[in-house]
Amino acid sequence: MIHNPLKAIRNWLESRKLFYTLNYHGTRLKLPYPPRTGVCEVCGKHGKTNRHHFWYAFTRKQVMEDPDLAMLYTGEMCGFWPCHEMGNSIRKLIELDPEIKIVSKNSIIKTIFAMQQKAIAQCKKDGNYPKKAEKDAKTTKKR
Ligand SMILES: [Zn+2]
Repeated sequence: MIHNPLKAIRNWLESRKLFYTLNYHGTRLKLPYPPRTGVCEVCGKHGKTNRHHFWYAFTRKQVMEDPDLAMLYTGEMCGFWPCHEMGNSIRKLIELDPEIKIVSKNSIIKTIFAMQQKAIAQCKKDGNYPKKAEKDAKTTKKR
């Protein structure tokens, strides 16, 4: 691992809660308030959580200018398995097929799909759909 002094300073400041970080499509943003409460909105577990982006509606430039935008169309989820990873998978399915309907008896899948649809409906209502981030998206490519 390469030693990055800036990263070390940032981690030190963050450990003292002088600011909080939020990842947006690989861009680390600083927020003056905590973006996470430590409770998963999908399964209700307490612990290490992440902000899951149901939709990347904004460009990196937009969220760097206004980090509050990066809180829109998000939900708080368990750090990795199952909630956040399932959330990412469901978003990828919807990116490939916006009309897809996911029917499942699994409560995690049902909850995330419902949250995903609600977030996209809000995004459309706000006039932020389709995503503006398409051009600078690292991982999603139009096929
Ligand atoms: Zn969870």
